[in-house]
Amino acid sequence: MTQKITKKIVGYKVVSKEEQDARIDAQNEQFVEIGQDLEEMHEALKRPEVLFGTTYKIKTPQSEHALYITINDMVLNAGTEFEERHPYEIFINSKNMEHFQWVLALTRLISAVWRKGGDPCFLVDELKGVFDPKGGYFKKGGVYMPSLVAEIGCAIESHLKRMGIMKGHEMEHHQKAFLDMKRQEFAAKHQTVEAAEGFPEQASLCVKCNVKAAIMMDGCITCLNCGESKCG
Ligand SMILES: [Zn+2]
Repeated sequence: MTQKITKKIVGYKVVSKEEQDARIDAQNEQFVEIGQDLEEMHEALKRPEVLFGTTYKIKTPQSEHALYITINDMVLNAGTEFEERHPYEIFINSKNMEHFQWVLALTRLISAVWRKGGDPCFLVDELKGVFDPKGGYFKKGGVYMPSLVAEIGCAIESHLKRMGIMKGHEMEHHQKAFLDMKRQEFAAKHQTVEAAEGFPEQASLCVKCNVKAAIMMDGCITCLNCGESKCG
């Protein structure tokens, strides 16, 4: 390992072999202590008789029937300070049988990945990145949903965020204030009544967050939802 020294060297000490070994031993002991008897998510973990779950309802303009997504969680190390929830399985139900085959395949694959353990969050980005060649649709609030698969990804995302496994992108206070100011400025300039969802109706789709919230102000396109800004 190379290390660049940018400050003046005012003293030095050579770490003896014994000291180094002692340090490594101490580290290992710590690992053993923490790792002792701790449950982790893995394939061989037996499914308990009862699991707690959450059901999300999804309504798309593509079908008259809603889709119900149920995610059941496994509680690991219950009652200890290391207690954590991990998503264990997913079921999707609908009266609409049109997508039955691939939806079933998808839920089985997602459940299998979760049961293997590891970080369950990467699936969200994979699903949200699926675009329907027939085109997506807009949700309430001007959010563009590129496909039904992406919508399932969003439901999983909100579940993982609620569990605290996935961190949301929190906007800084001053950035929020700046966007509020921009929004008011825009409304005053165009004398628009703000849309029910909160973004001006002239707003265009933001390339970063997929919400119809990007406005042109003073030669810059600014997204009122995520703050993405490009000046041209
Ligand atoms: Zn945006």
